[in-house]
Amino acid sequence: MSNKVVAPTVLSKTNFLCGIQCPRYLWMILHEPKSIPQPSEAMQFISQQGRRVGELAKLLYPGGVDIPVLDFAAGILMTREQLKCNRPIFEASILSEHVYCRPDILVPAGDDLWDIIEVKSATTIKDVSIQDVAFQRYCCESAGVNIRRCRLAYINNQFVKRGEIDPNELFIIEDITDRVELAGIDMQQKVEEYLEVLSSPNCPQVRIGPHCSQPFICPLQERCWSFLPEHSVFELYWGGSKCFELFDRGIIDIRDIPAGYSLNSKQYIQVDCIKSGVPHIRKQAIRDFIASLQYPVYFLDFETFATVLPMFDGVCPNQQIPFQFSLHVLQRSGAIAEHYGFLARGPEDPRPALLSELKTRLGTSGSIVAYHAPFEQQVLRDLAETYPVHAGWVAGVLPRLTDLLKPFINFDYYHPDQKGSASLKKVLPALTGLSYEGLPISDGRQAGVAFMEAEFNGSGEMRRDKIRRDLSVYCGLDTSGMLAILKKLQSEAC
Ligand code: SF4
Repeated sequence: MSNKVVAPTVLSKTNFLCGIQCPRYLWMILHEPKSIPQPSEAMQFISQQGRRVGELAKLLYPGGVDIPVLDFAAGILMTREQLKCNRPIFEASILSEHVYCRPDILVPAGDDLWDIIEVKSATTIKDVSIQDVAFQRYCCESAGVNIRRCRLAYINNQFVKRGEIDPNELFIIEDITDRVELAGIDMQQKVEEYLEVLSSPNCPQVRIGPHCSQPFICPLQERCWSFLPEHSVFELYWGGSKCFELFDRGIIDIRDIPAGYSLNSKQYIQVDCIKSGVPHIRKQAIRDFIASLQYPVYFLDFETFATVLPMFDGVCPNQQIPFQFSLHVLQRSGAIAEHYGFLARGPEDPRPALLSELKTRLGTSGSIVAYHAPFEQQVLRDLAETYPVHAGWVAGVLPRLTDLLKPFINFDYYHPDQKGSASLKKVLPALTGLSYEGLPISDGRQAGVAFMEAEFNGSGEMRRDKIRRDLSVYCGLDTSGMLAILKKLQSEAC
């Protein structure tokens, strides 16, 4: 290897993975980077977690040396020096002509051979990770770094935190050499193809397709899909492959689906509603649902956060930790609802205080209404498992849960503005005009990340207060929204 470092047009591992998804995306990254939306705070949080997982994995290979990320050329030269030593290298900088990668860990395997250890914060091995390592292997070997085996260090979902996290227990290390070899068969061809895309002055024309969300949700979706009209075939309820089948036949508007085309009963209802502009209501089914509710009726919603590295003892990777609830209580039909909220404060485990507050508010009888109740049920079951002293109380609460999603998932009620979705985010505006649009916090994942920023990351007082206000508005809308939906159902069905 010469010590001269040039700055060629390189295909990095990140770009290679974008190329696998779509050549148009790859081209845009190099030629129009400003048109690619910034990752959301939730995505940035996931990346941050990934970096922490990477740091923990390094502990599995003591005596390793880190290659700094700051200087591209210096990193390459330093890697070349370290490859002469017989010790692990973390984030080596490997450049060979037009390909570049930074393997998480290179471990010496004797006879001038190295093992690649790729670290992932996922709990399963994904195909894209195999492609990822196949590219790294190709890049290393092109640069004269001979690879013996390839392994993936990923998260053991059975791990339970007890004190300091022991990386030997946290990670599963699996040999993926055979799969990598298979994925590498056409690597040369792919690399040439992607380099050609990068060097072209013209953006490749690519039709939208399933690749727009596989293996990742492409950040350019809003732009590439913007030509679709309202009520496009992609809004077909659980449309799956039917959507692209119709699109490929040139049918873009749901109203243009031919009469004989095979749809399921819910999709028929959706098409009819769009054509007529009138909601579909099965009044008796709605009445039965309303009659099944017992007063006082509690409208409950939890907000949770989850981290791949558990923060508290007894917690598994990615376990949902509730930190907030909103509760609207309707003592009787037609009464004005009372509202109670809980939002944990400080960097301690929020669950004991949340549980204690919830117990004082949920009473001993009456329906507890949630939207997509399995989530609330799971949170309650987890609390019972962690705090067995409260298991009896949780066992009494669980049968009281009722799912307000039910009338919508059954299509007992369907409004054309739901756009083929039964989610609260779509049902609420369609039925009531209330909306999450424009709220600083507008989805659950964002709420979890914001809470962590406010209470765990040392935010200033003003920022923390703002986040707490935003969280209260968001979670409060989840339960006041359910209340508004129920009132709408009552007014239309009774
Ligand atoms: S949205 Fe689809 S077509 Fe557009 S760049 Fe992304 S993957 Fe390619």
